[in-house]
Amino acid sequence: MDVLWEGLGEYSEDILRCIRCGFCNSVCPTSNASFSYMASKTSRGRLVMLQSILRKSSTINPLDREFRRLIDLCFGCRRCLEVCPAGVRIPQLMWRVRSLGGGGGRLRLMLKHYGAIEKTASRIHRLSNLILGSRLGRRILQTLAGIDSRAPFPRFSPPLESMIKQSPGQGRPLAYFIDIFTNYHESGLGLRVAGFLERLGYSVYAPVQREAGTPLLEEGLLEEAKQVARFNVSSLLREVERGARILTSSPAAYLALKRDYPELLGDEDSRVVAENTVDVLEIIREEVDGGRIRFREGRGRLIYHSSCFSKATGMSGLIIGLLESAGYSVEVREECCGIAGMWGMMREHYEEALDVGSRLFSKIRGADVPVVSQSETCRLQISHHAGVRTLHPFEALLGRIQSR
Ligand code: SF4
Ligand code: SF4
Repeated sequence: MDVLWEGLGEYSEDILRCIRCGFCNSVCPTSNASFSYMASKTSRGRLVMLQSILRKSSTINPLDREFRRLIDLCFGCRRCLEVCPAGVRIPQLMWRVRSLGGGGGRLRLMLKHYGAIEKTASRIHRLSNLILGSRLGRRILQTLAGIDSRAPFPRFSPPLESMIKQSPGQGRPLAYFIDIFTNYHESGLGLRVAGFLERLGYSVYAPVQREAGTPLLEEGLLEEAKQVARFNVSSLLREVERGARILTSSPAAYLALKRDYPELLGDEDSRVVAENTVDVLEIIREEVDGGRIRFREGRGRLIYHSSCFSKATGMSGLIIGLLESAGYSVEVREECCGIAGMWGMMREHYEEALDVGSRLFSKIRGADVPVVSQSETCRLQISHHAGVRTLHPFEALLGRIQSR
């Protein structure tokens, strides 16, 4: 169908490359959930449908609501990218299918402004938390933004960007690309990251930046995602040219800089920023390997939840290695928690997210050891549905690092 050929551009070729092997189904969290009892609800099924539309052997309209509901079952976790023998860029393809037909809708309208909305709510965090802590507040959020009133929603904290310096001081410069969650919901974690690195001789500062924009991509708001990417790349490139590395502590922020922006923009600037981006956990690895920090003697146990984005960035192996170096015996849980950023918070996906996450929750509910996950929304989902406090790996490591 022409709308697909025209709207997908080079991504149409990805659809035609699919050999229908079904390997993607074997790793896809939603394809393996109990609600995906029909082939059309699986990853392979979506590719088969798209192929048949392109080859005109199906009369399905890609703008049809039911079809779009099937496309929405891909929540962009990127697990399939590792296993597809044909190199089909499945999540990127789904974002583009979602972008077809444009359309407004309250969620899309809210997403276009979500950075500004979050910033404002964080500045008045006490009032925001009071409102969102009430049943009426959650009903309003559900009506306005489609976020299910039963879903976990993070409390607001004061903005991190207003608590750390805006330009480098003495020490090795690290320009902190913070992203929404750490900036406006977990500023305490961001402050601990910055404080720890400052003690190691780095100078951590927050240059001008916007949100990473991952929800824009996932909703198919590609033009808006490109605008955000251009803004961030242009600002961060200036910092790289001044000699800074770009610091992240969120896997979504890291993935945006390392993979999404270079793919979206396809330019040299985004590649330079990607090459100079480093996560706090990679810095800890460098410091341990260089003998500049050591872990205390001692043993402990913990459960490591390998989030989808930690897998996609290849960070899971590094995290497990670090935790073991710090003396932990690590039980690794690979199951998806189902939240996938905002996907599992939305009213139409709340029950599906619980279905996806149920295997993980049943394995760790009542755990008597700490649970760690690099992903901020996974920590939120796991704490809420499995009832166990879930930490960033940095927090588990920090308590084991010998002070100098
Ligand atoms: S793994 Fe790749 S080739 Fe196989 S069905 Fe999925 S998209 Fe098609
Ligand atoms: S990105 Fe995740 S949800 Fe989407 S098809 Fe791939 S494995 Fe499934």
